[in-house]
Amino acid sequence: MLHKWEGIVLKARAYGESNKIVTLMTREAGKVACMARGAKKPTSRLAGVTQPFMHGIFLVQRTSGMGTLQQGEHLNAMRHIQTDIVATAYASYIMELVDRLVEEGNAEPFAFDVLTQALTAIEEGYDPEAITLFVDWKMLAYAGIQPILHACASCGAVDGEFAFSFTQGGFLCHRCFHRDPYIIRLSPTQLKLIRMFYTVSIDQVGKLDLKPQTKQFIKKIVTTIYEEQTGIRLKSRSFIEQLERTPLLLREKKESTD
Ligand SMILES: [Zn+2]
Repeated sequence: MLHKWEGIVLKARAYGESNKIVTLMTREAGKVACMARGAKKPTSRLAGVTQPFMHGIFLVQRTSGMGTLQQGEHLNAMRHIQTDIVATAYASYIMELVDRLVEEGNAEPFAFDVLTQALTAIEEGYDPEAITLFVDWKMLAYAGIQPILHACASCGAVDGEFAFSFTQGGFLCHRCFHRDPYIIRLSPTQLKLIRMFYTVSIDQVGKLDLKPQTKQFIKKIVTTIYEEQTGIRLKSRSFIEQLERTPLLLREKKESTD
């Protein structure tokens, strides 16, 4: 059976001398691996459309087992992501996270939308660090985590001062602070931002100008949730941390490409 799917190339690995096994995140069929015969050869018509980050329309022949990629047509080659080291780092992290959390076999329209909107936003020059935070919060559900962020996780109150509690799985109000000795106190702005990252869709946000320390703070919380509750630690996270430790290099890179 021939399928026509809209998808993003999550990863591509060499298979044999000239083939690639490509993992697509598709709108219609979720995560799918398929064989791209000859795609390793630069002259192959599949060479370009099987590059990671590629957003395209893919024709896949599949009856049972692994399908074969017949043809691909790009919608967005994500050139900025391919060439800007910071954009590449964050986009790689997003792709690795989606790949780790989404299982093959089912359509996952929410995950597809999050991935596509995030990559498109980074491609269009939005702050990749903020966009990645959106993805982190939104993908928690795929790790089986549903933080309680609309009210106090312990008593349900919606008023008062709030803190984040890892053991209670969400916000705690000041009346319940005693339930967790390791709470992280939140300012009203931090509280609002966390709710926004979790609930507002990426394409509704617009240009978001966040202070570096604000992003660091919110990133610390979501990263701790992933590391403590799922044990997931992504390879591409280390690359981002490496980039963050070398701000001078980043500035030079920025000036030379602007
Ligand atoms: Zn409470």
